[in-house]
Amino acid sequence: MSRIVIIGSGIAGLFASLRLADENNEILVVTKQRPKDSSTNWAQGGIAGILDRTDGEAMEAHIADTLASGDGLCDEEIVRMVVTEAGDRIRDLLSIGVKFEEDDDGFHLVKEGGHSARRILHAKDATGAEIERALTEAVAEHPNIEVRPHTLGVDLIQRVHGDPSQGVKGIWCLDLDSGRMDAIPADAIMIATGGTGRLWERTTNPPVASGDGLAMAVRAGAIARDMAFVQFHPTALMLQGDRPFLITEALRGEGGVLLDHKGLEKYRAGDKEPEVYSFTLDSSPQGSLATRDVVARACDRVMKRSGFDHVWLITDHLDEKLLKNHFPTIESRLNIAGLSLGRDPLPVAPAAHYMVGGLSVDIDARVLMDDGTIIPGLYGIGEVACTGMHGANRLASNSLLEAVVFANRAADHMIVNPINLIEEVPEWRAEGLPHLEEHAPLVRDLETLRKTMTDDVGIVRRFSRLERARRMLTLLSKEVDIIWRRSLPTRDLIELRNLVLVATLITEDALSRKENAGLHYNTDLI
Ligand SMILES: Cc1cc2nc3c(=O)[nH]c(=O)nc-3n(C[C@H](O)[C@H](O)[C@H](O)COP(=O)(O)OP(=O)(O)OC[C@H]3O[C@@H](n4cnc5c(N)ncnc54)[C@H](O)[C@@H]3O)c2cc1C
Repeated sequence: MSRIVIIGSGIAGLFASLRLADENNEILVVTKQRPKDSSTNWAQGGIAGILDRTDGEAMEAHIADTLASGDGLCDEEIVRMVVTEAGDRIRDLLSIGVKFEEDDDGFHLVKEGGHSARRILHAKDATGAEIERALTEAVAEHPNIEVRPHTLGVDLIQRVHGDPSQGVKGIWCLDLDSGRMDAIPADAIMIATGGTGRLWERTTNPPVASGDGLAMAVRAGAIARDMAFVQFHPTALMLQGDRPFLITEALRGEGGVLLDHKGLEKYRAGDKEPEVYSFTLDSSPQGSLATRDVVARACDRVMKRSGFDHVWLITDHLDEKLLKNHFPTIESRLNIAGLSLGRDPLPVAPAAHYMVGGLSVDIDARVLMDDGTIIPGLYGIGEVACTGMHGANRLASNSLLEAVVFANRAADHMIVNPINLIEEVPEWRAEGLPHLEEHAPLVRDLETLRKTMTDDVGIVRRFSRLERARRMLTLLSKEVDIIWRRSLPTRDLIELRNLVLVATLITEDALSRKENAGLHYNTDLI
């Protein structure tokens, strides 16, 4: 029996915890807010996968679409492995109690941008909430799993300080209720902390997405890869005074069309199908259903040209009843603003959505150092990890799939290669440090950081803007470091420190690239 700490309670962390707990390991899941507060819980569209392993043609098509979306930078071996294991992992989710939508022919499948066929299982437009519900319920009932909410992972404890090759033996966590810093020993640690959408002013991510796990692993000697590839979702609902709310790509899969302001006028005056008037056709023959990188850039271009802060998503040519039935979560969100599917043009704009890069891991999710060797006892799963599956651009609905496949592989690897090395862990050294008296500088620094990333490291980049971002980040990093050394850590400070580090990794990767691919688009390289 090993004692394993899992940081994060989204699909990756919870799925792995169940697999490991079933094999009699003792699992502690630490999570920074409530267990369900995660991107997983907000996922709408679904999980891609072929259930029938014998259907070679369907699997090859899923592989081909994933490779095409990744723009030549996917690791094909990983893509093949994930697509092949998809059916088994989706069946695991079903046996845990996840209920996907069914119709007379079996599971009801939908299509999203970049997919050449309907292969996405879903629970209407709240697939993630359904997955999170089933997983949290199963975890709560498992005798070998303790879930500790309001517990913020701060830093990993190395077995030999300063020598990552010797592995990790625990983690310091801030108990957000008491303010106490706990040193928690572990045989192995799994980082499942999700993405980092909070770096941008407009994001579809929940506030917990601040890149913590990535930053703490990098400080402990891990290497991050492909950080320049940040996915902006083309269609976040933009209502005055509201946080961006994702409008799933599945709506465009059902025929939703993107129009700019002129296109909308022409559509209203004309007698043709709306797609004919879509600005997206200038970028791809797939039009509104091209891959996310292409569509987000097209939106960015027309918004900059017109000066409007949104484009329109049109659904009034579609079956209103069907839309309301398939997308009830979106419909009720729209109703609050007096809008409705099948009737009103919806104001949408791109928003930071998914971190394609992340901790470099091997095929068993073991975290790697820059010499390609592993950090013993450290695993990275879910959005925080970069497996090579997504290349330069993630195909829609492939991330829940990748998370569950790699959570399973990491668990398998731990089960076959158990570590039983529990050692004493040192207390957090903070003697004499005062509590932080003023949070205002942190709030200002966070605003500056998010503005910098939005203006200079967004959808469309230039070297001069990236260099400007580098200068700002150097300054912010020094400021945060000074506060870090002089005061007891708070949640705001810990997250800001992590965000600045992740922002630096993204900016440096973007600066180092000599070619555009997928989500990285630098106009100086055209
Ligand atoms: C609005 C939205 C819609 C999406 N729709 C889809 C979709 O339809 N299909 C698809 O495949 N993908 C979708 N995605 C992407 C997908 O949901 C995520 O990539 C995936 O859920 C990530 O799972 P995860 O377990 O890695 O991380 P998450 O689900 O984000 O969980 C991370 C967990 O780590 C915790 N955490 C973070 N930092 C710390 C810390 N320092 N200490 C303790 N705990 C910490 C968080 O609180 C959270 O519990 C969507 C994402 C969003 C935001």
